[in-house]
Amino acid sequence: MPLISPWRADFPALDALQRQGQTYLDSAATTQKPQALLDALNHYYTSGAANVHRAQHLPGAHATQAFEASRHKVGQWLNAGESGQIIFTHGATSALNLLAYGLQAHFAEGDEIVISALEHHANLLPWQQLARRRNLRLVVLPLDGHGLIDLEAAATLIGPRTRLLAVSQFSNVLGAWQPLTRLLALAQAQGALTVVDGAQGVVHGRHDVQALGCDFYVFSSHKLYGPEGLGVLYGRHAALAHLDHWQFGGEMVLDVDYHRAEFRPAPLGFEAGTPPIASVIGLGATLEYLDGLDQKAVVDHEARLHRRLLEGLQQREQVRVLGAPELALVSFVVDGVHNADLAHLLTEQGIAVRAGHHCAMPLLKSLGLPGAIRVSLGLYNDSDDLLRFFSALDQGLELLA
Ligand code: PMP
Repeated sequence: MPLISPWRADFPALDALQRQGQTYLDSAATTQKPQALLDALNHYYTSGAANVHRAQHLPGAHATQAFEASRHKVGQWLNAGESGQIIFTHGATSALNLLAYGLQAHFAEGDEIVISALEHHANLLPWQQLARRRNLRLVVLPLDGHGLIDLEAAATLIGPRTRLLAVSQFSNVLGAWQPLTRLLALAQAQGALTVVDGAQGVVHGRHDVQALGCDFYVFSSHKLYGPEGLGVLYGRHAALAHLDHWQFGGEMVLDVDYHRAEFRPAPLGFEAGTPPIASVIGLGATLEYLDGLDQKAVVDHEARLHRRLLEGLQQREQVRVLGAPELALVSFVVDGVHNADLAHLLTEQGIAVRAGHHCAMPLLKSLGLPGAIRVSLGLYNDSDDLLRFFSALDQGLELLA
């Protein structure tokens, strides 16, 4: 039985890609955009762009109103309520760098930062470099046999010197939800701050930062069907108090003299310079669009499509799936075949998947692999996309294996 996405027509690029002979299966890298977002960008740019927060004129007031309305929608999306603030950044990467710089005074020599073995470089390098700058210890939690952060090991490695835990909610390579509740509880029992990299997790289902209980939650708009150049940092009020200002310039100040300045609190104090105004407004429109969808239908469609993808790969003897992917994506290798060679053959047949280390080089190294191929799904994918992928894969395997 074919699996048809009822939302495919809402994403004009899908038709365009098909006309170009392309089957897009790389949504974990970035997503195609809904018409609702394109309409919002068009409306903003054709009705009068203006800078936010500083102008007294009417276009400025309109832009500021739309910008702050988006902030409110992001807060609702995460159920932030009154618990904290939504800070706009330029991406998940810049949000994590903001934290690693903004929190550096929070650490003393010998303190420990705990991450996991499956982190994306964006949630590894800022902490690794902070540890090097401040003589801290970076502790890496190992994985169990299913590709989940090992809770038993975590219980021994998270200890009294742990000052911060930063972990991914959903692995961009292994496609598995991580045991966040238990991990956060371990860190909180030691009085450590907690950071959740929601870049992949936020895309699937709805997440409640208050229920999760993390101090900081980070994601990128472009992976959630929104525009590029925009990230979100949610911070709990008490945790934001630990954050020093890190980028300086217009907009983030209350009072300035030549030799001193007084800065705004969050969120504006952490949004130095002109923010990506159109993108913020566009993300608001995207969330409104997503909010209007039947959530259960989306979850069911994604789950069915993923099952078909996983089963199809498992049926092919030469293919070895990495970990135990639950949703959204599957990474795999073919023994004896270099992932780049297979990726090349897939590309030639119009299949857009990702090959390589997926910005998780230490994880791939620990698996003894130079890279892997990752197929990832968006809510607009159909089972026909998978048929085209499998047909191209079989042709590739015939040539290579
Ligand atoms: N964390 C994870 C788990 C990711 O998958 C990504 C993007 N691949 C990032 C962080 C970084 O996101 P961005 O490149 O949009 O800043």
